[in-house]
Amino acid sequence: MKPYKNKINRIRSFALALIFAGVVIMYIGIFFRKYEIVMLIFMFLGVLAILSSTIVYAWIGSLSTRAIQIVCPSCGKHTKMLGRVDMCGHCREPLTLDPSLEGKEFDESYNRTKNKTAAIKEDSKE
Ligand SMILES: [Zn+2]
Repeated sequence: MKPYKNKINRIRSFALALIFAGVVIMYIGIFFRKYEIVMLIFMFLGVLAILSSTIVYAWIGSLSTRAIQIVCPSCGKHTKMLGRVDMCGHCREPLTLDPSLEGKEFDESYNRTKNKTAAIKEDSKE
């Protein structure tokens, strides 16, 4: 099982993976130089992967503007969170904006996770 990561970081690594995939696909295409059509298909797929990563990057940009920036109570760094629950991008501290979720086991209904507890509210804690 993959460890849960900060949403924005996760999308960002997905976009990066797409770029690598695109480059690899185009590289494979070079091996099919003799078969022009096959090479063109690979090139096309590679460009497609890189283009979609550009779209994902643009999407991250728009998400970041909507994300709430908070100071992580655990490591003291600034991090951006999306939705009601997310994790610190630096130390993976579970964060929540919903007081009703405070103190409960970190459970993002749409994300499976390990036994991380200590869900914390942003700054109204003191
Ligand atoms: Zn942190």
